[in-house]
Amino acid sequence: MVSRNDNSSPYFPHREEPPPLKPATQLVHFEAAPDDSFQPSSTPIYQTATFCQSSATEGGRYDYTRSGNPTRTVLEEQLARLEGGSRAFAFTSGMAAITAVASLAEPGQEILAGNDLYGGTYRLLTRVVARQGIAVRFVDTTDGDAVEQELSRRPRLVLIETPTNPLLQVTDIAALASRVHDHGGLLAVDNSLLSPYLQRPLERGADLVIHSATKYLCGHGDVTAGMVIAKEEELADSIAFYQNAAGCALAPFEAWLLLRGLKTLALRLEKQQASAGLVAEFLNRHPLVRQVHYPGLADHPGRDTHFRQARGAGGVVSFETGSVELSKKVIEETRLFAITVSFGCVSSSISLPACMSHASIPGKVRSARLLPEDLVRISVGIEHPEDLIDDLSRALDAASGLARGEQKKCTEYAY
Ligand code: PLP
Repeated sequence: MVSRNDNSSPYFPHREEPPPLKPATQLVHFEAAPDDSFQPSSTPIYQTATFCQSSATEGGRYDYTRSGNPTRTVLEEQLARLEGGSRAFAFTSGMAAITAVASLAEPGQEILAGNDLYGGTYRLLTRVVARQGIAVRFVDTTDGDAVEQELSRRPRLVLIETPTNPLLQVTDIAALASRVHDHGGLLAVDNSLLSPYLQRPLERGADLVIHSATKYLCGHGDVTAGMVIAKEEELADSIAFYQNAAGCALAPFEAWLLLRGLKTLALRLEKQQASAGLVAEFLNRHPLVRQVHYPGLADHPGRDTHFRQARGAGGVVSFETGSVELSKKVIEETRLFAITVSFGCVSSSISLPACMSHASIPGKVRSARLLPEDLVRISVGIEHPEDLIDDLSRALDAASGLARGEQKKCTEYAY
């Protein structure tokens, strides 16, 4: 119960059992500083490496920030609550979070991953994890038969994104979770693209949720961080052990920045996805655009599945022009969209994944997985949508002078 005697929210002070809070309310009403005698209303940054002990053999809850820090604890408890998990863990990056989850597989065991996923995840799995004696395989998780065949090998861990980055493909989390469990495995879902505000994979049967918190959770492009949320205590214990042993926990200042950004997640995402819908519709009607990938569009193949498991289509849209030259020109002609990797920031960004965020996937693998070289990915920010559409319209007009059909490979550009 929320009481007036602690420094948590004064919301519903007189009711024994308040109704469950909506996500937008949860984002700003939480215990800001448990056990702090000054009762600050905002979480302090406990910028300390060590905590004094009362004797050589007795101490308090914290001893060393690598193992635990009160600022990080508030962030972790807030994420556990938002995702509906038993515990959450904050890491120095999304990749550190994925590494922690991959550590659940032991040498001799197998990890099965979706075949459209962030390039850095592919690189980690194929060039770091695979070298630890763990077999890594990839499958199109939207294809039930292919998944069933791979699951017969009884992988310890199945790792997916839904929607995927950058093709926005959708996998049915509940159906996959039940199949994975039937074969004795664990399902981890990278929820970076939607955040718990729009999708809560643990409720659909996933065992672990991963975030690149660098994206929507932070929202301001000023923190690199990752989160793992475990459904069950036993898994949480394994992740907690890894976080402390490997020394990859998030520092107090970054944890504080993330907590601050998180408070506006609902406002940001509502605006970003409303504008992304308008941008996707605009692109879908534009004669220079061949295909738009966005689960909010009526003709998206995963739309029904998506809206069974998520409350919105999110703020990331990708599209094809049919020509790398054309896509490159559109990207370079925009003025309001920063040419950056990453997504989820309050300001809009645009990228050519094959040459940027997904360049670490070899060209041959990209083409085998039908990842188009000319794919443009947009992350829609909180700017006025008319300004964004005007900017894209002008960039497409400027690019339309280019001859079509000239297909340079991304490797031919010096990025
Ligand atoms: N997961 C997804 C879906 C991503 O897009 C990214 C990075 O772009 C990561 C994980 C890795 O996160 P980070 O860059 O915070 O290490």
